[in-house]
Amino acid sequence: MNSQLNSNLSRRSLLKTLSVAGAALGTGYVISNPALGEPASPRTAKNNQNPWIYAFTIGDVEAWSISDGFLDFGQGLNLMYPESERDEMKKALEQRFEPTSSLQIYINILVLRKGSEVIVFDAGFGIVDHPDRGWLIEGLERVGINREDVTAAYLSHTHGDHMAGFIAPDEKPMYPNAVIYTTPEEHEFWMQTSHDFSRTKRDPKALDRMVKTAQMRFELLGGQIERAPAGSQMFGGLVTVEEAFGHTPGHAMYRITSAGETLLNFTDIAHSDILMFRNPSWVIGWDHDMSQAVETRRRFFKQASQQRTPCFGFHVPWPGLGGIAQRGSVESYDWAPRRIFWG
Ligand SMILES: [Zn+2]
Repeated sequence: MNSQLNSNLSRRSLLKTLSVAGAALGTGYVISNPALGEPASPRTAKNNQNPWIYAFTIGDVEAWSISDGFLDFGQGLNLMYPESERDEMKKALEQRFEPTSSLQIYINILVLRKGSEVIVFDAGFGIVDHPDRGWLIEGLERVGINREDVTAAYLSHTHGDHMAGFIAPDEKPMYPNAVIYTTPEEHEFWMQTSHDFSRTKRDPKALDRMVKTAQMRFELLGGQIERAPAGSQMFGGLVTVEEAFGHTPGHAMYRITSAGETLLNFTDIAHSDILMFRNPSWVIGWDHDMSQAVETRRRFFKQASQQRTPCFGFHVPWPGLGGIAQRGSVESYDWAPRRIFWG
């Protein structure tokens, strides 16, 4: 991706170029939908007719929630722990008219623009051959942001739905002009030679590949990666990195502050908008350290509900804006979505 990919190129040309580049390098990426506006599948057609970009403001900063798509896990509650409480979890889902045979989560990307700074929080899946995901780049273009315009990005942790989109199909950086901030703990964990996975329920057979993929992605991003420990502030105090360890060893969340307004992007502290809120001790098997993840979630929910902090969730229903409301006096919460408006 260099000078031939400038903003004068149409989306159609861009996708053709990426497709050719991806094929030439044998990356396995295939562009299914080279002509913008020609849906690749009925699901895409349905989604193209619905809004998936929500514009709002935080103080004097422009903000968007752009959907990168959604995930539908057929394993359903088999992904959740403790096993002995799955009946209770099922009841909680049924009560809210939710399916119980699959776990459906969203991929919401927070984007900010302040002057010449364009900041993206996690990158979604990138350009992939899948109708349900990989919509971010087109969403950015629809609000007038080209990949080259992105000046900064945050990587909350190295899982594919957050990190894959930082790499273009030609294996070059998707956002060539961006600094990508991640915590030192996250970077160090994945780049070291041996890894302790004793506190996760992930399939042990998948771990080796997960490590290699994370290392390969960090290597491809090279000098773009900058370590930003918890407490780091950027852009005159607009963004503060906060510790949210547990889901991964260096998992981060982000507090956005502008002109007296706040938005807390809690990234992967909760995946379901029902289960982890109803009982913060219910955990997903993807957590690296399940007890640390629960501790982090309990601390965060308590604080955010008491302080009534406006929140943004990466995996809760789009556009991901809302608050955390305590249910009575017990340690149980509701995700309270914010009303959204058009026009
Ligand atoms: Zn995630």
